[in-house]
Amino acid sequence: MAKRDFYEVLGVSRNATQEELKKAYRKMAIKFHPDKNPGNKEAEEKFKEAAEAFGVLSDENKRARYDQFGHAGVGSSDAGGGFGGFGGGGMSMDDIFSQFGDIFGGHFGGFGGFGRSQGRRTNRGGDIRVKVRLNLQEVAHGVEKKLKLNKQVKCNSCNGTGADNGTAFTTCSTCNGNGTVIGVANSIFGRIQTQNTCPTCNGAGKIITKPCSSCSGNGVVNDSEVVSFRIPAGVSEGMQLTVSGKGNAARGGGVNGDLLVLIEEEPDEDLIRDGNDLVYTLFLGFPEAVLGGNSEIPTVDGKARIKIDPGTQPGRVFRLKGKGIPDVDGYGRGDLLVYVNVWVPKNVTSEEKAMIEKMKSSSSFVPKPDKAEKNFFERIKGMFSR
Ligand SMILES: [Zn+2]
Ligand SMILES: [Zn+2]
Repeated sequence: MAKRDFYEVLGVSRNATQEELKKAYRKMAIKFHPDKNPGNKEAEEKFKEAAEAFGVLSDENKRARYDQFGHAGVGSSDAGGGFGGFGGGGMSMDDIFSQFGDIFGGHFGGFGGFGRSQGRRTNRGGDIRVKVRLNLQEVAHGVEKKLKLNKQVKCNSCNGTGADNGTAFTTCSTCNGNGTVIGVANSIFGRIQTQNTCPTCNGAGKIITKPCSSCSGNGVVNDSEVVSFRIPAGVSEGMQLTVSGKGNAARGGGVNGDLLVLIEEEPDEDLIRDGNDLVYTLFLGFPEAVLGGNSEIPTVDGKARIKIDPGTQPGRVFRLKGKGIPDVDGYGRGDLLVYVNVWVPKNVTSEEKAMIEKMKSSSSFVPKPDKAEKNFFERIKGMFSR
């Protein structure tokens, strides 16, 4: 199958700026990220395809060659497909994750999901998944969270090695302590040497002669740890943040897994979230709507006041600029939309009833909507959509 044009993959024009490329790639990476699409092969392919396109177009030299010679110019052959295809382009999964570092401004700290590229094998501890429920205030301002986690931590008796006293080792005789063994494989280029992880010691280069008694040679023990981390402002339901290195410790030494934080949003009683905008329904009493006045509006930064003109109709929408939720990636801030409704009493006393009966016969209380007011739906149609 022929490779798609890299500009087409990212959905940008041929003279897109670096900023536009970044934005386009970011969008695709979020949409097709494997963590968001578990088991979805098609999404995974799209994710890789976008990463490869961005890898080339974000490098001005490679981009110039690609513009002139197409895929051949950047050595990404049509053959490979899937992961193998990266070989030619000089793109590894580590490259993809390093791109994320730049693009996500670091606050996602990289992604869990699928394994880093293999070389000399280091053990990696398991990831820990937690759910964190945030109220609207926390979403709007970001929040520091502290959690006590039950997890596997490094065994202190053996310093995580799994060997008694951390010293009861002998050098692996299969690989002479290198951790790797040389193999020979046949390829289209002829016989080539390959470097494989030593099967005897699993790449460690040494073998435990007497296991540590505290951890039975695992190098890790079950314990608890208090972990604190900051959740940036603007996150939303279903988003997953990675706190790197805060997961389980690795067996037999190695790198810690990650802490994966799944965001849940607690609905607010007054303010309804619509993307980065917030919507508040303001009920005016009938006399207030007629006479006008000031109304107090709850916002995520305390109270705000708005002026109500005499004769304000239900359905009027006030837009309070910048009073919404900050964009999680720093692209501005949403608005607060105040939707006016007029409260109709459900029960009235006999005196009130007499008052209203009197109004009924007064000419000002007969509805006389103008054209715009009649086209109420036209006016609000698009107002809340995003
Ligand atoms: Zn131990
Ligand atoms: Zn070995």
